[in-house]
Amino acid sequence: MEPQSHALKKEVVTYSKIMDRKGLVNTLEGNLSVLDRDTGYLYITPSGIRKSMLDEDMIAVMEGGKQIAGEYKRSSEYLLHEAALAARPDCAAVAHIHAPYLSAYAYCNKPIEIKCSTTFSLVFESIPCLPYGEPGTIHIADGIEEAMQDHDLVLLGNHGCIAIGQSLEDACKIVEAAEEVLKIYHIAKEIGPVHDITSEKLESLYENHPGSRRNRARARNQNH
Ligand SMILES: [Zn+2]
Repeated sequence: MEPQSHALKKEVVTYSKIMDRKGLVNTLEGNLSVLDRDTGYLYITPSGIRKSMLDEDMIAVMEGGKQIAGEYKRSSEYLLHEAALAARPDCAAVAHIHAPYLSAYAYCNKPIEIKCSTTFSLVFESIPCLPYGEPGTIHIADGIEEAMQDHDLVLLGNHGCIAIGQSLEDACKIVEAAEEVLKIYHIAKEIGPVHDITSEKLESLYENHPGSRRNRARARNQNH
């Protein structure tokens, strides 16, 4: 058996606590994982444990779909994490989060396509929504392979969202940014009317800004 990574268990614990503190996960909702592509071990949060109380020994270690370590049973959504990581070989971390604003769109089965926020337009352009799939089964990930080719953050119909990144910092920061933007968007709608950036100006941002979703995807495709 390959040695387990204390650093990756710690990464899962650290980000679980951060997301818990921000009210974006709770005991029953949300799970985080990191895949060590050298050993094939997936480090994932256990099910039914308050994220603020996690420690490294509680993190479940999975190998080939089987749990090989950890004091508690792995999250029931490990299949979702495995599907996302299979779709994106350039990434190693997954955050499945039940952030309120993002989840509200998922409850409505609505992709997010707002045009009033430079942050949103740069980081996401849009956030697609997968159709409902039964939790705890592979069907919750139906369509994820295609959706994640172009998007690091995807809504899961009637459920929540999933983000992918090279680290949990990458995966969690885009969930936090999207949630913040949506919170502000809903305040802005009350002040109203919300002023959209014109399509022409958005197109220029998408094409010319080095940090735009399009340009990051292009850089990724050149490297793989
Ligand atoms: Zn969930």
